[in-house]
Amino acid sequence: MKKKKAVIILGGGISGLSLAFYLRKNGYKKEICILEKSVRAGGWLESQMEQGFFFEKGPRTFRVSRSESLLTLIHDLDLERELLFSSEEASSKYLFYNQKLQKVPSNPFSFLTSKLTRPLLFSLFREWKIPKNLDDESIHAFISRRFAPEVADALFDAITTGIYGSDSKTLSISSCFPILKKWEREYGSITKGLFLHKKKKSVYPYKPSHLFTLKYGVSSLITSLEKEAKADMITKQEGKRLSYKDGRFVVETDSASYEAEDLFSAVPAPALARMLYRDHKEVSLLLEDIPYTDLSCVHFGYRKKVLPVSGFGYLVP
Ligand SMILES: Cc1cc2nc3c(=O)[nH]c(=O)nc-3n(C[C@H](O)[C@H](O)[C@H](O)COP(=O)(O)OP(=O)(O)OC[C@H]3O[C@@H](n4cnc5c(N)ncnc54)[C@H](O)[C@@H]3O)c2cc1C
Repeated sequence: MKKKKAVIILGGGISGLSLAFYLRKNGYKKEICILEKSVRAGGWLESQMEQGFFFEKGPRTFRVSRSESLLTLIHDLDLERELLFSSEEASSKYLFYNQKLQKVPSNPFSFLTSKLTRPLLFSLFREWKIPKNLDDESIHAFISRRFAPEVADALFDAITTGIYGSDSKTLSISSCFPILKKWEREYGSITKGLFLHKKKKSVYPYKPSHLFTLKYGVSSLITSLEKEAKADMITKQEGKRLSYKDGRFVVETDSASYEAEDLFSAVPAPALARMLYRDHKEVSLLLEDIPYTDLSCVHFGYRKKVLPVSGFGYLVP
């Protein structure tokens, strides 16, 4: 027998849960059902205490300047008192380059003297003369064209891997670093854009360069969202088949069938593609075309101070 619901959300990660929360916040009164494949909600967000060490299994810190929406969510969940900002030590970042750990410059003097930024420095002086290309291109092609291939190889390849876990030669500059493409379009140069763009003023009083997390880990977001969204979270229910007929959505799992007037997907594109394959092949094939990279995290905890330097961490180009 089909279980009738008003709204079904596929996936109980941060996307599915915050969607349910904002539906409620905007006055949605009917039942919201979240179907989640695993035994717990949260998706990539998972904080864990293990043998006296605190680990974040997925995202761990966020930069204030890039987290306006997340800060709004934290504010709306009344979690601001749990905000924890980074210490000065965490501003040191490193790159494993030329077989050595090299500090990424963090002030104008070190920027001028560091071997890492020297190729970038030279190309900055001629970057503003390079003609615009309005078409989209890969991050690597864009940086090589506007700066130098060495800058793309050493700096941007590492940054891209660090943020997106993928290859700078295949990811789009317009999607991943839209601000750089915007500066090229509007000012004809990144260097000019850096100096001339008007900084958007944040509504939050925190230092833009600071990193933050929550006192008890990012899982607090999930616990709080689960409580406030007042949704029916059904775990261990993997959506296997999704169809749409006569204005109603039907989701089938191994053990049940759910029917709803409205449905939102907050699962990765390949998962949705699999669910649509039988009944809506055309959409399924389009979704399958979206590349998806999975990744693994390995955590180490040391009881003694064994690392040669202190800092946020290092990236490997
Ligand atoms: C190590 C690491 C660091 C990161 N750092 C940052 C960062 O600093 N800043 C940032 O913005 N982002 C960061 N991210 C990315 C961020 O974690 C993800 O973008 C975000 O968590 C995605 O959330 P989501 O809810 O969209 O998807 P997910 O977390 O993938 O949740 C999807 C949910 O759907 C469920 N599901 C899948 N298939 C089905 C199905 N068929 N039926 C039912 N349920 C299903 C899954 O079990 C999962 O719970 C990081 C990611 C990792 C791994």
